[in-house]
Amino acid sequence: MASETKDYSRYFDFSDAVVSEDERGKRIRIGGREIFIMSEPNYRRERQRGKEEVRVLYEEAVPEELRSFGKGKKYLIQTYGCQMNEHDTEVMKGLFEQMGFEWTDERREADVILLNTCAVRENAEDKVFGELGHLKSLKLEKPELVLGVCGCMSQEESVVARILQKYAYVDLVFGTHNIHRLPVLLRDAYFGKEMVIEVWSKEGDIIENLPKKREGMRAWVNIMYGCDKFCTYCIVPYTRGKERSRLPEDVIAEVRELARQGYREITLLGQNVNAYGKDFTDRDYRFADLMADLSKIDIPRIRFTTSHPRDFDDRLIEVLARRGNLVEHIHLPVQSGSTEILKRMGRKYTRESYLELVRKIKAAIPDVVLTTDIIVGFPGETEEQFEETLSLVREVGFDSAFTFIYSPRAGTPAAEMEDNVPMDVKKERLIRLNELVAELSKRANEKLRGQVVEVLVEGRSKNNPNVLSGRTRTNKLVHFEGPAEWIGSFVHVRVTDPQTWYIKAEPVRQETGAVS
Ligand code: SAM
Ligand code: SF4
Repeated sequence: MASETKDYSRYFDFSDAVVSEDERGKRIRIGGREIFIMSEPNYRRERQRGKEEVRVLYEEAVPEELRSFGKGKKYLIQTYGCQMNEHDTEVMKGLFEQMGFEWTDERREADVILLNTCAVRENAEDKVFGELGHLKSLKLEKPELVLGVCGCMSQEESVVARILQKYAYVDLVFGTHNIHRLPVLLRDAYFGKEMVIEVWSKEGDIIENLPKKREGMRAWVNIMYGCDKFCTYCIVPYTRGKERSRLPEDVIAEVRELARQGYREITLLGQNVNAYGKDFTDRDYRFADLMADLSKIDIPRIRFTTSHPRDFDDRLIEVLARRGNLVEHIHLPVQSGSTEILKRMGRKYTRESYLELVRKIKAAIPDVVLTTDIIVGFPGETEEQFEETLSLVREVGFDSAFTFIYSPRAGTPAAEMEDNVPMDVKKERLIRLNELVAELSKRANEKLRGQVVEVLVEGRSKNNPNVLSGRTRTNKLVHFEGPAEWIGSFVHVRVTDPQTWYIKAEPVRQETGAVS
């Protein structure tokens, strides 16, 4: 149950509070605070999938007059949720820095603090509201601080209504389709005394050329935005809009540039990467074509996340089986092992078709590592149906899995279903599932004992500065002793002591530069 019993979505009607209205938006007053609403979230519109064309715009996101706006000022972004949000944060960092702002880790030093939020499960939302509560005292001490909320939560009517009513000290709320508008919104929030809200409910155009501030040797590259799958439990299609693919030439140019800059690994991002290209009207070009084209670029490793079993076609398997820089790790969320539950989740595949897909992948790529996402305690899930999940997990032999207790999301079809699985049963199922995943992970790692694997060295281990850590092509975490100069390069190590969630190893030889 929601910790807040009030349903704020029913309260997003502030017509009584309107002070003035013009073509830019409306000004309202709540509890003494003026709020400027340029556009507000609207669930009904977020559900719609229009046929209107998505334009690709190549614009300067930071207007000339705002290029030194942030001089002498510091910013901090706190990021919650998935890689998509992490990458959005990189874009916002790029925008801040083009405006002259400097990053700080210290809240007290910050002139702007943004919370880039996640709405996928309720506990993610609770964390953000908790954080906003903590930030209140800082805001009281330092009224000139600009405090903003962005990301998936700001696309929800209920969240924005709750912020208006209970967190009136927030200065800025903007949505996932408004990120490129950050410079102007920030200026408005800075100079005005009112809270500024701009949340577009209809996805906008694809904006290219946004600056990005990346760190390390691994880079994320968005290949598409949004999701049209509408799984019945999931809020993402509402918060991220309809599927829109970036043009292949833009993606390829970005990856080429990353290769030129010396990045060692890229991860292609999308809610549903293998639906890439389905929305193109002027060409027949799909995810497999993109992977084939990217495999020719001189960048050592290419990953992708997340792929949907429904759109995983034979051609993609055939391209991935060519390997080279396409790694042999596939994250393939199954969600449940019961065909009946999958049907009610709206996943549009069955237990059997998922297992058949896995069989085909393993036949083409025998050493492939498969990982997955699973939800336990979906409304109406019986003990037998849960056991079908356990047996599927065993049959596939996943190397690891992200496992979740079902969390009802207001506005989604599953939230209307009778949630008759008691919380203690859900928790107990999660524990049993996690025990099985740990057993399989340990077993898979054990098979690597004595083998030599290639590791991209990412940095020092968090727990021991003498130990380096990195990842294999299959995304397994490896720890071994070695000099700091190896950070950023590929090293071959022999597995000496496999653990459940990581592997201990010793170096056998060092190789810098690209590995084919
Ligand atoms: N697009 C990806 C896919 O289809 O697999 C996943 C995106 S979602 C951000 C990541 C994971 O969160 C999902 O795979 C699912 O397991 C989990 N998830 C989504 N909605 C959930 C909910 N209402 N309750 C619990 N887990 C949820
Ligand atoms: Fe959510 Fe399903 Fe889309 Fe993944 S495919 S983002 S789980 S609706």
